[in-house]
Amino acid sequence: MQGLAWVFIASPLLVLTVGRGRYSLAEAAFMPAVGLFILLWLKRRPASSPEHLASVEYVQPGDTDRPDALTTPFCLAWCDCGWLGDEQSTEDAARSEAGQHTAHVRDGLHAWGA
Ligand SMILES: [Zn+2]
Repeated sequence: MQGLAWVFIASPLLVLTVGRGRYSLAEAAFMPAVGLFILLWLKRRPASSPEHLASVEYVQPGDTDRPDALTTPFCLAWCDCGWLGDEQSTEDAARSEAGQHTAHVRDGLHAWGA
């Protein structure tokens, strides 16, 4: 999200180099305002929401189309901060690994980003 904000802030540079007059000055000035707004919004997020919120996901073959397409289902713990656990054969193993990362581990199984 923070990266997206900086894309907006840097966008006038892109518009100048790539846009070649396709965008008006107002439009070019609007985008960094959006970026700054995102940064402010991220800063003002309520402190009550924990920085780390881990979830456990059950990954099945076909859930990913990466080159290393999986043949065996496994459980994976992941955290909002970007932390990823190892591939675990059981949900409990993944959950306990997540517990070592943060005390905030959601109940149930959550697919990536859900
Ligand atoms: Zn974390």
